[in-house]
Amino acid sequence: MFELITSHAKSVLPGLSVLHGLPGLVVALLCAAFCLIGPSASLAAEPAVQVGPIWSSGAVSVLTIQDVPGDMSVDIFSGPASQEERAKYFQAGKAPAGVNAFLIQVQGQAAGEKPLNMLVDAGFGMAGASKLMQGLAAAGVAPEQVDFVLLTHMHGDHIGGLLSAEGQRVFPNAGIMVARIEKDYWTGKSSQTPNPENAALATKVLEAYSSGLPQPFEFGKLTLPALTAKAGFAVEALDASGHTPGHTVFMLDAAGQKLMIIGDLVHAAALQFALPEECARYDVDVPQAVKARKRILALAAEQEIEIAGMHIPFPGNGKVAVQFRLLH
Ligand SMILES: [Zn+2]
Repeated sequence: MFELITSHAKSVLPGLSVLHGLPGLVVALLCAAFCLIGPSASLAAEPAVQVGPIWSSGAVSVLTIQDVPGDMSVDIFSGPASQEERAKYFQAGKAPAGVNAFLIQVQGQAAGEKPLNMLVDAGFGMAGASKLMQGLAAAGVAPEQVDFVLLTHMHGDHIGGLLSAEGQRVFPNAGIMVARIEKDYWTGKSSQTPNPENAALATKVLEAYSSGLPQPFEFGKLTLPALTAKAGFAVEALDASGHTPGHTVFMLDAAGQKLMIIGDLVHAAALQFALPEECARYDVDVPQAVKARKRILALAAEQEIEIAGMHIPFPGNGKVAVQFRLLH
């Protein structure tokens, strides 16, 4: 069982929320579960766009951009817990969630060198609702300045924002980075059958970005020249398969500090840190998804690596602590 320890958020600019990391407290007693110690964001007035810096080390900084706010319903979860037990983690059947994307910026080292802008996932791309583009604008990044989009996986709420309403690419100079196994799954090159509607979207995205698309990656350290040229910064693609066959956690390592962007390892933070065996219906391979969740949250807790997740309520980051419960 885990717990998320978070920091606080406060609004400093119109339409912008900026976060200040505060050390979290863990109250632990006895038997392993997890807790995410994350931001207990209490915003007085909901700003139109929620953008906040969550992490920085050396020349690297990470911002959360909330694409859409939202809740997860208790009805989409199943697992060993009884319905009654599960419901205790929700309020009126809902748990706060939303959809986040993350912007990684690596400042140039030489005078005049451009920063490297990498998005991790791109939100839903829902006309009139998705705020990714406003969030990027608030962060001072134009669509043509996005160099890469790293994809944790290719579900619609993570790749929809890569295409305009007309089906055109919205980041003209960006290369898409996706796990080979994920690409193969959605393009019908694996033995498993994907959801056809989502597969059609994934195919459209891959086609729209086919020029300049880097080779899909294998799990392990990413070896893209633009990344390896940045001294003291590395990105490792960790195998978090289960949610989808190529679901990836990105581990950033900058000047010795680490941050894991965990994708959809967690859908309802209120439930799944405490009961990591519970799964949302979106997990393709349930036993594998449970294993990945436990393994990666345990790694984050043991090595005190901060995490950030796509469906963890804004600003989506925190530290993971193992929580102990007294068993009777
Ligand atoms: Zn998702």
